Amino acid sequence: MRFMNHFLFSLLLSLAGLILFRPSWPLLYLFLGLVSGLLPDIDESRSFLGRKIRPVGWLLKHRGITHSALPVFFLGFGIWLVTKDFVFVYMVAVPYSGHLLLDSFTKAGIKPLLPFSRRSVHGPFRTGGLFDRMLQFFWLFIIAFLMVWAIQLFLP
Ligand SMILES: [Zn+2]
Repeated sequence: MRFMNHFLFSLLLSLAGLILFRPSWPLLYLFLGLVSGLLPDIDESRSFLGRKIRPVGWLLKHRGITHSALPVFFLGFGIWLVTKDFVFVYMVAVPYSGHLLLDSFTKAGIKPLLPFSRRSVHGPFRTGGLFDRMLQFFWLFIIAFLMVWAIQLFLP
């Protein structure tokens, strides 16, 4: 999926997290959720985050280990051990998993069980294709709704 699709879906999941858990630092958690949802593509040196930390893209194969359940587990568990903050865990693990879910709909797919299994999960859709663009519109509608809800919750 394209950057914008991942960005919007991360925004949607992060807003849902804010509404569910009402943390005291909503903007910090929102930022965390957005970065987490874009993090898997750090293995692609032309991606938004990959361009900023290029050597990662040179070292890792695109849609390899960063597009598997392993980093979700380690990040989520590691953050829980250090912070004991469930909202923090949500804001990292859920948008990250959302990215993997979206990529699993594409023809290229992902290998969720790397490095233990090379079995891939993929769908019929092309990155940048009609489904990719239609999903972005769908996310926008939900985001608008969640945004109004979140603003009402957090503004005095
Ligand atoms: Zn990806």
